[in-house]
Amino acid sequence: MSGRNVPELLRVFAVPAGAELTPQQRSGNVCIWCPKELLAGKGVALGGTDTWYPHACPSCYDIQGRALVTSLDWNDHTVDCANCHTTPCDTAQTLRHAHEDARQRARLRPIFCLDCGKAMGAEAVRPYVWIGSASMVLSYVHAIPCPPSAGADGDN
Ligand SMILES: [Zn+2]
Ligand SMILES: [Zn+2]
Ligand SMILES: [Zn+2]
Repeated sequence: MSGRNVPELLRVFAVPAGAELTPQQRSGNVCIWCPKELLAGKGVALGGTDTWYPHACPSCYDIQGRALVTSLDWNDHTVDCANCHTTPCDTAQTLRHAHEDARQRARLRPIFCLDCGKAMGAEAVRPYVWIGSASMVLSYVHAIPCPPSAGADGDN
């Protein structure tokens, strides 16, 4: 995971809001991603404030961390790569597939386009990071104009 501060990144991007967790999860006694109980001092601390202490079990931490890091690797590449400014290059495609694999393992929903809401198929896609109401959000958009939705033809 290439020198990234994974607990910090998970805190920023992936830890659910306190209100979405059970009291046991908020107190750090249960993993925030699975029902596993955590003994005191076990589990990976993922931030929180003085009223809640989200923790993850080591396997969820690995799986969720990998899903996040692969998306950030993909995003970083897309931002830096001159070729990707027009259409995603081969490296970007490889990074996308690594991320989609990791997402599947983390049981995250398949990626969809933030603009048109469609699930992503084989078409060109790029990651898109934005600031949501509670945290940073990593989304995806079509790298080409969004395909017209069926039935939208007569809209104007
Ligand atoms: Zn877990
Ligand atoms: Zn590229
Ligand atoms: Zn789209």
